[in-house]
Amino acid sequence: MRECSCLIWYIPPPSNRAAVARAAKSDLEPDPEAPVRLPVLTGEIAAQRIEGVSGVGAQRGKVLREAGIETLADLLLRLPRRYLDRSHIVPIEAAPIGEEVTLLVRVLRPGQAPRFRRGRQPPREVVVEDESGTLRCVWFRGGHYHNFEAGDLLALSGRLETYKNQRQVSHPEYEFITTTDDDSGARGDLLHTGGIIPLYASSADLQERGLRSRGFRRLVRAALSLVEGGIAAAVDESIAAGQDLPSLEAALKDVHFPPSRDRAEDGRRRLALEELHHLQREMDRRRQRRLSQAGASIAPSKQLVPRLIERLDFELTAAQTRVVEQISSDLQQSHPMRRLLHGDVGSGKTLVALCAALQAIEAGYQVAVMAPTEILADQHFQTWQSLLSPMGLSPALLKGGQRAAVRRELLTGMQTGALCLVVGTHALLQEDVGFSRLGLVIVDEQHRFGVEQREQLIRKSDAVHTLVMTATPIPRSLALSMYGDLEVSVLDELPPGRLPVRTALRSPDRRDRILAFVAEQISEGRQGYLVYPTIEESQASDLLSAEAAFEELSSGALARYRLGLLHGRLSTEEKRSVMSRFAAGELDVLVATTVIEVGVDVANATVMVIEHAERFGLAQLHQLRGRVGRGAEAAYCILVAYPTDTEGQLWRERLDALCATDDGFELARTDLRLRGPGEFLGTRQAGLPELQIADLVRDEDLLEVARAAAVGSDR
Ligand code: ADP
Ligand code: MG
Repeated sequence: MRECSCLIWYIPPPSNRAAVARAAKSDLEPDPEAPVRLPVLTGEIAAQRIEGVSGVGAQRGKVLREAGIETLADLLLRLPRRYLDRSHIVPIEAAPIGEEVTLLVRVLRPGQAPRFRRGRQPPREVVVEDESGTLRCVWFRGGHYHNFEAGDLLALSGRLETYKNQRQVSHPEYEFITTTDDDSGARGDLLHTGGIIPLYASSADLQERGLRSRGFRRLVRAALSLVEGGIAAAVDESIAAGQDLPSLEAALKDVHFPPSRDRAEDGRRRLALEELHHLQREMDRRRQRRLSQAGASIAPSKQLVPRLIERLDFELTAAQTRVVEQISSDLQQSHPMRRLLHGDVGSGKTLVALCAALQAIEAGYQVAVMAPTEILADQHFQTWQSLLSPMGLSPALLKGGQRAAVRRELLTGMQTGALCLVVGTHALLQEDVGFSRLGLVIVDEQHRFGVEQREQLIRKSDAVHTLVMTATPIPRSLALSMYGDLEVSVLDELPPGRLPVRTALRSPDRRDRILAFVAEQISEGRQGYLVYPTIEESQASDLLSAEAAFEELSSGALARYRLGLLHGRLSTEEKRSVMSRFAAGELDVLVATTVIEVGVDVANATVMVIEHAERFGLAQLHQLRGRVGRGAEAAYCILVAYPTDTEGQLWRERLDALCATDDGFELARTDLRLRGPGEFLGTRQAGLPELQIADLVRDEDLLEVARAAAVGSDR
């Protein structure tokens, strides 16, 4: 999103502007394009150039450098991708179908490399054998393989399948093995020696240029002896020992030449601990830097917040009270607040934000509230207006597509300070938008904004207090590393009386019964949502669409009820009208796309049917489901899956997880496990240091240990 390169609160006084420019250049705030590479091994020896290793001449040095290996540390941190455990090698005939297997095989028939032909290209087939039987290896177009010769010995791994009654692996990973592993001399004939052999990433590049695992092993062994006794650990060894982990030096040896599988993993974890420690230190440095900046100190609210709370017809939850206090005390500090508030769907974040806003307004500051969609901005505007107007305050709404005169008037009001609170979409980020006394920025559902926007928000709102809110609960491990430079608040409690949404997975052939159930709910005076993955039918896919379903249901199964259609392609006015009719109970059913994913708050809606649930991500499904179960009535969510063979089984795990729990944190952890951190966050985190060794899911426990060691105390 280009337009946000200049931000709303980018109207700081000149002195501040210089600070912004400095901050942008500061090496602590890295260019998002070039994430920091964290050190894992530090010290002079680790930094020694690779050319010092025996066997590395000019030619090999060049090959290594091109593969990103310049120092001893670079070399030693290229961990084996897997190990060939001689005691665990299975014979071909005994290998379990459908699983990842590692086999030790000999090439029997190398086959022909397919000659280039127009159109379809036959796969390359190589038949390999061991004492127990034969196995076909196939490479389809685009797969990478060598020209094997009969008799080549390979360590081979991949998922074992059967095809035409024969065992087969497609696109296996493999490595050439020589019978005499010449890196140790004494190792002898690999076929007849025990032990665990490291297999390094078969970076085709390195292999092709003569550096196969065997050569790599030799280099690693040499490097290990060079660094012996010379590597200083950043994490105190007693802390590592407390986790039953070896010393850093022992870990390096174990991870490359492990005496056992467990020792290899412990070694890796020791290195991960070291890396996570550096990550925490980096985050802490960023945080310290922010604490040294100057920001407006905003006194606690004496009038507005107490008046708001008095007017509510419910009590704040204990979690809300705690977070309101945390934020209030942040705002009183003389450095800018950067707080991330995460709380599950329906945990009442809006009210917390409102208290923060009122504190700023009472002290004479302006507040900007930014929402990711128009629907949500509209809804916020209405909520805020109804809560604020009894106090004589009136928020303004700024979004795209407003008439020029309206927009001009709004902009003037913001610039003169006449408007104390503006709710908007990212129209708020446009260049001509400016404030006279902006004190607080609140970003709702921040996960829906791009990573870039988040970075820009945080980076450029230098002197302004910032509260970002998200309903995608972030597992603590990720929060600590992604947002380690922010303060984090959690609303870990739902308002009382909420019942879990009963969730079930159903197949499409039960559609009649599902619709009958929806009809039943409506007859009881409730409302419901039917969610579709696309707006309209298309020839390119078989997906059901909101428009088609709307047509079909209006004259079919739900003809007796009042149906509304809501999707992103309607005009703003149409969207608003449908939404407000639904909220007012003038529509029974909303047939919609995922535009309703966030923020929509209609307590009388008790049933949601999600068609093609297999198409949606776990976080998104959880958000969608959060639209029901907002009132006192029992609520239901019915997932309808139309899986095809090609989609793997992950959808099934996602939907099962969703049926099993309502707990957003648990779902987030599952999601993180299924997708890995990069995917989980949508895109690689700009500015987040890259991790080479640690895995935020697997090593979550170590993150806490590293943090305690790096920062000393908990926040
Ligand atoms: P979210 O965290 O998903 O943004 P909202 O702020 O939209 O949640 O709150 C969800 C609903 O819960 C709203 O209707 C709100 O008025 C209500 N609510 C908020 N706090 C409380 C509370 N302490 N007790 C009862 N209801 C509450
Ligand atoms: Mg919300």
